[in-house]
Amino acid sequence: MIIIKQAARLQEYLQQQAARGIISGFVPTMGALHQGHLSLISESRKHTGITVCSIFVNPTQFNDPKDFEKYPKTLEQDILLLETAGTDILFLPSVDEVYSGGLTNLEHYDLGYLETILEGKFRPGHFQGVCQVMYRLLKLVQPDLLFMGQKDYQQCMVVKRLLQIMGSKTVLIPAPTVRESSGLAMSSRNMRLSTDQRGTAVDISRALHYIKENLAEKSIATLKTAGAGLLEEAGFKVDYVEIANADTLEPVPEWDGKTPLVALVAAFLGDIRLIDNMVLTENQG
Ligand code: AMP
Repeated sequence: MIIIKQAARLQEYLQQQAARGIISGFVPTMGALHQGHLSLISESRKHTGITVCSIFVNPTQFNDPKDFEKYPKTLEQDILLLETAGTDILFLPSVDEVYSGGLTNLEHYDLGYLETILEGKFRPGHFQGVCQVMYRLLKLVQPDLLFMGQKDYQQCMVVKRLLQIMGSKTVLIPAPTVRESSGLAMSSRNMRLSTDQRGTAVDISRALHYIKENLAEKSIATLKTAGAGLLEEAGFKVDYVEIANADTLEPVPEWDGKTPLVALVAAFLGDIRLIDNMVLTENQG
């Protein structure tokens, strides 16, 4: 694995590879890697001739400065994991390297409705930050395929929108959420959970399963209230439990039995904010 810290060097190297007709895959991350990230590397290796992973904790996407400060960092272990997983290139830039024009007066992207709901609503500015960093990384790497996790369902939709705005040829491949055997969705933030909290965190996937299993019998409103109730009883502070159209993320107040559905949850355990989601209908991946 080659580790590159400078954008210009990365670009030069990747342009040489592209000129040789090698298909490239890109897996952007913020480090503190786990099997979820590695599943994206493995997907990329299946479909491409060169896999680039980036580790960059992007300051502009944290609406809460404390969350940014406390974001876990495990670089040495990350490098070992990526090497073992067969990653070709690790891009490890500094903030100055990515934001060479500084962190002020950054561009604004028109994300429309997507930015007004769920994560967009509860984390103001978050998706602008995601787009600001993804725009820069995508311009640099210019991958044929981009691998991102469905764990961040709305983020996948935002990045798809960004690719359209950019007129990019890169194709986004969303990959399924990797879970612990308990059902807990893997997340870098899980590293901050105490043993007790880790046990409680499983209730998020329990709530999602409950919603899925009772979809045919109960109303959407009842399912949302029950899901939120389950989490509050377990000690969470719930931001949202939503059931939405899986294609548009518009809330679905009553189900017609056909619309593809996804249930999405965001909730705090102490000061740690966790998100998860589950596609509820069979015709969706
Ligand atoms: P992050 O480092 O949290 O920014 O995540 C980097 C990429 O890994 C994003 O595309 C995430 O959606 C994806 N990812 C995070 N957790 C998981 C998971 N449990 N399963 C699959 N992909 C994941």
